[in-house]
Amino acid sequence: MASHEEILADKAFFAYLHRLIGDEGIELIRRFPTDKEYSDEELAEITKINLNSVRNTLYTLYEHRLARYRRIKNTETGWLTYLWLLELNNIHDSVSKDLEFVLEKLRRRYKYENENAFYNCENCGNTITFSEAMDSEFICQNCEGKLVHFDNDLLVNALQRRIARIEENLGHE
Ligand SMILES: [Zn+2]
Repeated sequence: MASHEEILADKAFFAYLHRLIGDEGIELIRRFPTDKEYSDEELAEITKINLNSVRNTLYTLYEHRLARYRRIKNTETGWLTYLWLLELNNIHDSVSKDLEFVLEKLRRRYKYENENAFYNCENCGNTITFSEAMDSEFICQNCEGKLVHFDNDLLVNALQRRIARIEENLGHE
């Protein structure tokens, strides 16, 4: 089990968390006591971070299975209290899932770029596929400029490299 500080010290994990919960969220993790569960109000008081921000961070972490809560009902008032714990050790799975999602998107884009020829307006830069260019007789529908063949090799290569890098990270072959 890695400590919260160890997880935050990992560059990839930090970047992932920062994207999810921002500066205040990261501060909440740093100041989150690990001895027991705490309610959101207690956490706001301990960490001096505003309650709404604490709640947003906790819900976001919860959605990504990086925090969990236990609900307790006050028998007199009937009010519910949520007691929170961080589960940052799930971050490996969370990051992997995120990367799988990005990978899927990149693969679709790669396939699309690879399987189509593109035409580009000399005038306004509008880019469309060959069949769309054919339909409009190689005249731009935006500005009536001339459509010329657009070489997307650079983009295809860049996509290929990004896909390979993510596959490597995920341990695919
Ligand atoms: Zn145009």
